[in-house]
Amino acid sequence: MAKFTAKPADLSKISLKTPRTDWMNTPVEIREHMYCHPAKAKDLEAVEFPNIHEWKPSEADWKLPEGWKETVLNGMKERLEKFRSFHVFMDICVRCGACADKCHFYLGTGDPKNMPVLRAELLRSIYRRYFTTGGKLFGKAAGGRELTEDVIKELWYYYYQCTECRRCSLFCPYGIDQAEITIIGRELLNLLGLQLGWIGGPVAACYRKGNHLGLEPHTIKSNIDFMLDDIETITGVRVNPTFNRKGAEILFVTPSGDLFGVPGVYTAMGYLMLFHELGLDYTWSTYASEGGNFGFFTSMDMAKRLNYKIYAEAKRLGVKYIIGGECGHMWRVLHQYMDTWNGPADFMETPKSPITGTVFENAKATRMVHIAEFTADLIKNGKLKLDPRRNDHLKVTFHDSCNTSRGMGMFEEPRYIIKNVCKNFYDMPENTIREKTFCCGSGSGLNASENMELRMRGGFPRANAVSYVHKKHGVNMLANVCAIDRASLPPLMDYWVPGVQVAGVHELVANALVMKGEKERTTDLRGDDFPEKEGDE
Ligand code: SF4
Ligand code: SF4
Repeated sequence: MAKFTAKPADLSKISLKTPRTDWMNTPVEIREHMYCHPAKAKDLEAVEFPNIHEWKPSEADWKLPEGWKETVLNGMKERLEKFRSFHVFMDICVRCGACADKCHFYLGTGDPKNMPVLRAELLRSIYRRYFTTGGKLFGKAAGGRELTEDVIKELWYYYYQCTECRRCSLFCPYGIDQAEITIIGRELLNLLGLQLGWIGGPVAACYRKGNHLGLEPHTIKSNIDFMLDDIETITGVRVNPTFNRKGAEILFVTPSGDLFGVPGVYTAMGYLMLFHELGLDYTWSTYASEGGNFGFFTSMDMAKRLNYKIYAEAKRLGVKYIIGGECGHMWRVLHQYMDTWNGPADFMETPKSPITGTVFENAKATRMVHIAEFTADLIKNGKLKLDPRRNDHLKVTFHDSCNTSRGMGMFEEPRYIIKNVCKNFYDMPENTIREKTFCCGSGSGLNASENMELRMRGGFPRANAVSYVHKKHGVNMLANVCAIDRASLPPLMDYWVPGVQVAGVHELVANALVMKGEKERTTDLRGDDFPEKEGDE
């Protein structure tokens, strides 16, 4: 594949011209930099995915397994019977078009097949042809089309140009959830062995090692030890967390991205400092060492398998409840599926903060509380000594992750925290935040390097809103509560809005946190000098 060299000036020229041919007669063009490489056989074998075979998206023959058509149609029939929502979504779209311009991939590419209504139609047309009387009798006249190899290619190309962000569903008068349709579409492609490397690899690693990055227990421990050394250098305080400790009150689970690479490690240092300061009775786990769930991007069954390890570990350690770190899809899975898949978690208790006594009734079913809720409650009850002036060099805005905003309805807690640890906070325009937030463009397993054009195009609406507050208020820090965001937003900012850095909310908390026994701190967690305080020399 040639190197991606397109400049922002090139990608911002977006053609919205209507194609000459109607969509069914416009063949898919598989363009490089717009898709991810296929998964490696060894990864798919590790989790017993079906129909594993060598294939290349750029070649004409995808070597589909014998009987592939029956496999897809049988798989679709099974899912139409199993998931009522999917069946309803196949029937009820009235093509009002309210969703059409709400998808970041349509806004960034101008490709009509990235309109949510048309993305759904790619699969709906198969449903009509093979599962409705009108489609069986009248075919195309009733909106049906034959299932061919070209249709499979088209489904693959466009269902991996949807980040399952659910922004479109917010605007649909019928509540049609394109993410649920994409999930089923990807399940069907998975049956044919058409899986992505950036999804298959992390899934296999998580299944075998407990986390997407495949970090071994000793690597997790040594990575955290490096963070502890850095914390001691900066604050003079030695933090001593425990691992796999039976009898701890709380199990802490966070995405493995926070244990490896910047800026995620600064967020993890923030957790470590906060919990130490509180004297929290908690433990890390090297087994349930992943909050995220890439299984969710392959199939419900795979997601359930990976999710189970969190509850299994909580049971093994005998904890009372779980605190979850800053992650995106961990919380979507938790709020929408976890209790149904692996619940009830009645071997644990409803989370209750040992510091403030607050009972998190919202976490009664799952026994898992979000760290932003936990920390916001600490601040509200005056339990943290904070010096927000230490973040005076930052002008901060907040990116609502799709999963924490639309997946769990958490809008205010992160903003409340940021406003208490930083003095300069500026929200982006109203139609781009909270439940209307724009995706980073790289979620749902699309955070690879070979699909950089897709990512930069899909992230364009988000970057455009950041650019607005950057120009208007001088914003230089994009805070978030998601590990995928911490990985995907830095290149997006470097491309579209240079000068804006990216941080987890708990990095900002740790900068402002005044710890007991700390030495005079002069730098933030990145080693940058704190701004001079008023009255300082
Ligand atoms: S908004 Fe809903 S009903 Fe209207 S075209 Fe989109 S999916 Fe169909
Ligand atoms: S779920 Fe998100 S990425 Fe997918 S079609 Fe809707 S808006 Fe686009």
